[in-house]
Amino acid sequence: MEKAENHLHSRRHFLQHTASLAGIAIVSLTFMQDAEAAKLSKASVHYQPHLKGKPDCDDCAQYLAPAAGKRNATCKRVAGDINPHGWCELFEAKA
Ligand code: SF4
Repeated sequence: MEKAENHLHSRRHFLQHTASLAGIAIVSLTFMQDAEAAKLSKASVHYQPHLKGKPDCDDCAQYLAPAAGKRNATCKRVAGDINPHGWCELFEAKA
């Protein structure tokens, strides 16, 4: 009887833990989607993916270098992937 109760308790604990992790994942995904949706479109800021010369995106304070293991850079203010050698009218030189 005690063994059955322990099994039931373990199973309940596992299900509660799994539900909590799923909830965290959904909240994180929603937050990331909201953050991306709040960004401006490339067209609205006249983004140019292949500006020749300087300054360019990787000289900008809004630039976010690719995370470890990722290929694409992003921007704090402009939606989508950003070319480190692109440019837009929101350019703000790094301090
Ligand atoms: S704000 Fe514009 S120039 Fe600066 S990183 Fe973003 S896209 Fe590039």
